[in-house]
Amino acid sequence: MNPNIRIGGMLVGYYLVCPRKAWLSLRGIWMEQESDAVALGRLLDQHSYDRSEKHLTIDAEAPDGTALVGKIDRANLRNGVLHETKKGRSCEEAHLWQVRFYLWLLLRNGVTRPDGSPFRGQLDYPLLRRTETVLLAPEHETQLAATVAAVRELARQETPPARLTKRAFCIKCAFDELCYG
Ligand code: SF4
Repeated sequence: MNPNIRIGGMLVGYYLVCPRKAWLSLRGIWMEQESDAVALGRLLDQHSYDRSEKHLTIDAEAPDGTALVGKIDRANLRNGVLHETKKGRSCEEAHLWQVRFYLWLLLRNGVTRPDGSPFRGQLDYPLLRRTETVLLAPEHETQLAATVAAVRELARQETPPARLTKRAFCIKCAFDELCYG
């Protein structure tokens, strides 16, 4: 395993819906469709929202010392909201965990809103004209810490985890052909 591994929010989200997808990404395998989705998200992000909101990168450390990094689409610091822009909801569970991960990084750095309350997150789906509020609960923090430890273990694995048996998530996954040919 790369001793300098830094774990980010997308990887955590992938792991929680499909460890195999996280393993493939850890090995540097990114399918074109995945890159396209990220690029489209950035494009939507750049054209859909208030320019006073800022991109933000946060570094933090997990309880086990693992380096963490969050690259946040847009942060409204005045209102205490982190935004993540997505084009569709097919991977919403992964998206929710990605935003919870960012909220966790802020918490681990002791960053709060001016009144001392925690930041909240928001998933933005501009193509669907829909938003989803994301909050971080204590049980999410516990799960995120366990997930980071699990991703570190995953990075040591020489072979990929098994494919998902329930394929609902696979239908929109760019690795579908790789996994199921
Ligand atoms: S196709 Fe299914 S099993 Fe394969 S990486 Fe994607 S989600 Fe996981």
